[in-house]
Parts: sequence; C-alpha cells; structure tokens
Amino acid sequence: MQEGSRQKLVDCACHRYRAGMEHADIVILGAGAAGLFCADSLAGQGLRVVVIDHARAPGEKIRISGGGRCNFTNLATSHDRFLSQVPRFCASVLAGYRPQDFVALVDRAGIAWHEKTQGQLFCDGKATQIVRMLVDRMGDASLRLGTAVRDISAGGGGLIVDTDASPIAAGRVVLATGGRSIPKMGATGVAYDIAARLGHRIVTPRAGLVPLTFAEQALHLTRPLAGVSVAAAVRAGRTAFRDGLLFTHRGLSGPAILQASSFWSPGDELAIDLAPDDDAAAALNAAKRQGGRGQVAGALARLLPERLASAIADEAGLAAARLADQPDARLNALGRRVNDWRIRPVGSEGWRTAEVTVGGVDCRDLDARTLESRRVAGLHIIGEAVDVTGWLGGYNFQWAWASGHAAARAILRAGPGVS
Ligand SMILES: Cc1cc2nc3c(=O)[nH]c(=O)nc-3n(C[C@H](O)[C@H](O)[C@H](O)COP(=O)(O)OP(=O)(O)OC[C@H]3O[C@@H](n4cnc5c(N)ncnc54)[C@H](O)[C@@H]3O)c2cc1C
Repeated sequence: MQEGSRQKLVDCACHRYRAGMEHADIVILGAGAAGLFCADSLAGQGLRVVVIDHARAPGEKIRISGGGRCNFTNLATSHDRFLSQVPRFCASVLAGYRPQDFVALVDRAGIAWHEKTQGQLFCDGKATQIVRMLVDRMGDASLRLGTAVRDISAGGGGLIVDTDASPIAAGRVVLATGGRSIPKMGATGVAYDIAARLGHRIVTPRAGLVPLTFAEQALHLTRPLAGVSVAAAVRAGRTAFRDGLLFTHRGLSGPAILQASSFWSPGDELAIDLAPDDDAAAALNAAKRQGGRGQVAGALARLLPERLASAIADEAGLAAARLADQPDARLNALGRRVNDWRIRPVGSEGWRTAEVTVGGVDCRDLDARTLESRRVAGLHIIGEAVDVTGWLGGYNFQWAWASGHAAARAILRAGPGVS
C-alpha cells in the first residue's frame, strides 16, 4: 500500500472509532492451528493477546484431522514438500521451527503418538488432545469465540480489527483465518478478501487434497468398483505419487489421488499405473506362453484386485476370453491399460471435502522470515491463508506451527507496536 493511502486509512479509522475502544497488544484472527500456535508462542511475555474466531470451539480442523487422530507433523518436512508460486519461500520459516520441536511439546504434554508411514506422526488417542494442549499453553490470552472478523484497517499508529462485536485496536494483527476448504468446519475466504482489500496479490485459491470426479461416460467403469482400493502410482503433470487409490461412486480418491489433485488443473490428464510393481503386458504374455488355458480376467487378477481385473477384462470385451486365443498385440494393449491408464477428470469434489486450499496470499507480498506484510506494517499473515500448501501427511500442520512461531518470534523481537 502507498504511504499516502495508508495515512488516509489512519485518518478514516480515527474518525470512525472513539477513544474508548478496546486496545490489545496483539490480535490474532482465527483460533485454528496457526492462530492457536502463534498465541502459544507469545504466552508468558506480559502481552495483551486477544484471539478471535467465529466458531463455537477452537481448533475444529485439528479435531477432525487425520481421521480423528491428527497427523500433527511429518519428520521429512522440507520446502520441497510444499506447493507455492514462490517455491523456496517457506524454507526459512520451516527451518526456524522443526517437527522435532513440536514433538517435544507433544511429549511434554504426555500425548502418546506413533509413526504411521513415511515420517507421518499421529496421536495414539484423540486429536482433541492436541487442541487441549494448545489452548492450555495460551496462558493469559483472551479467546473470543462466536465473533466474526469483518475487516482490518490502519489507525492511531496501529491497526483496527472490525468484528461483528466491537472493534479492537492493536499494535499488531496476525491474520490466521485459514483457507476455503470445508465451509461446514468454519472456513471462509475472509483472509483473501481482507488481504486483497489491503493491496496484497492473491494466487487464485483452488481445492487441494481432494477426490476427483469423472464424466458420466468414464463412470461406467469406476462406479461399479466403488470401494475397491489398489496400490497405484498416479502422475499429474511431472509429479507422481505412489500410494493407495480408491474407486468411488463419483470418480477416484485415496491418498495417491488426493496428492495428485493438488497438482491437477481442470483439463489435465492423469496417468495411472494400477500395478506399479509389475509389467502387466509382459506378465500376460508370459502367462499365455505357459499354456494360457485360463481366462484373461484370471491372469489380470494375479496383478489386480479381482473386481478391478474383471472390470478391465470386461471393458476390453474379454470377459470370458481365453488367454491362449489372444494375439500378443491385444495383450500388450491390455497391459498398457493397467500400467498407463489415461483419464481426464472433469472436476473435483470441491471445497466441501478438500483438505486444503492451494493458493492464497501471494508470498511476494510477505517477508519470508517474519511473515509480516510488505503492504501493511504490523500485519502478519500465517497458516493456510498464505500461498504455501503442503503435501498430504502432516506437512500442513507443520507449516501452521512454524508460521505461527515465526510471526510470534518477529513480534517479540520487534515489540508489539509498529515501528
Ligand atoms: C478433514 C481434514 C483433515 C486434515 N488432516 C490433516 C492432517 O492430519 N495433517 C495435516 O498436516 N493437515 C491436515 N489438514 C489440513 C489442516 O487442517 C490445515 O492445513 C490447518 O488447519 C490450517 O491451519 P490454519 O490455522 O491456517 O487454518 P484453520 O485451522 O482452518 O483455522 C482457521 C480458523 O479461522 C476461523 N475463521 C475463518 N473465517 C473467520 C472469520 N470470518 N471470523 C473469525 N474466524 C474465522 C475458522 O473458524 C478457523 O478456526 C486437514 C484438513 C481437513 C479439512
């Protein structure tokens, strides 16, 4: 924002609000993962910290995360596990607060955990233990639930937060109201609206870590397979993920698809290997040479779940066909169908089920160490609201903790007032 326009906001705000307005040192907007952790990192310093959220309870997404067990971090966290228009932007923030730092807090709180796969750490018990730990650690911070944030403006040498209750003036404001995913859990686009009004660029938000959907003609294969899962390798563009794939009534889901969805854009094709450990064409031809008295579907079922094998044989018009009767070329084509299935989803299940938002406040408008806005002094933007999106597997919470911590550290270093 230009100096002149910033001054104009100051003047407007001073006229609008009376001197009796509530003052805090720091107002944190959003009592989700990033906001709560920022409040924790500011606790015990004698600062007046107010945390505002429109939900009835704090940390609602933490509560439902990881199937109720919260995949709270990933030991393999590194900047290359995140999508952003500025790929290395998150590196220094992540280096300033590591997965081991959060694990130490979890251990100190007596919360039992286990490593599932690939460095993913989950609670043994309920995810609510993490919410409780965070709320307990907030110290004297005032948590105001059921209060919606409307806007932020500059005023009186600081910032003024406009809510549906009374406005609050603060030396610094931390915007941590998250992304758009799962409106039913309290998600709104308010961070983007406010940031855009204050002059920040926004990388168009889209649903990530989300099931993908097919057009009616492709559903003839997938719909009858709903519930079947298979270990697969799924490639969107140049990025491939090897993990579980699940057929659904509307298309595909499972971790490999959720991961790929964050790299997928409408119109893109997916390349899916349904048997990544096998060369299906070679296996079918070898089975034929070894006698080939069995059916094609039977040979496929040695590589794939039976229902999927039958569906693929059926689709090729080979439901009851004998292996021995098939020319090599047909078996090769069938092999490609298994190892290199090309499909163009028509869309995704959208914000209703997306675990994250890809895109958000453009990193070019934020300081990479403090997450302070380059447009509005004293405003920090953290968590999912920023254009930093983790892969599936605990990375998004690690970004929430690390970005909350970075903003808090910067505030403590600089003092709550805007210099
Ligand atoms: C089903 C599901 C499962 C997930 N599982 C995992 C997992 O296991 N591991 C992992 O790393 N990540 C997981 N994630 C992603 C993770 O939950 C988010 O990346 C993380 O919560 C983002 O933190 P945040 O604080 O930025 O936003 P949020 O946690 O979304 O918090 C934002 C807060 O702002 C509040 N808010 C929004 N608008 C307003 C407004 N206008 N006024 C006041 N308050 C407002 C919201 O109520 C919310 O409390 C999961 C997400 C979902 C949806």
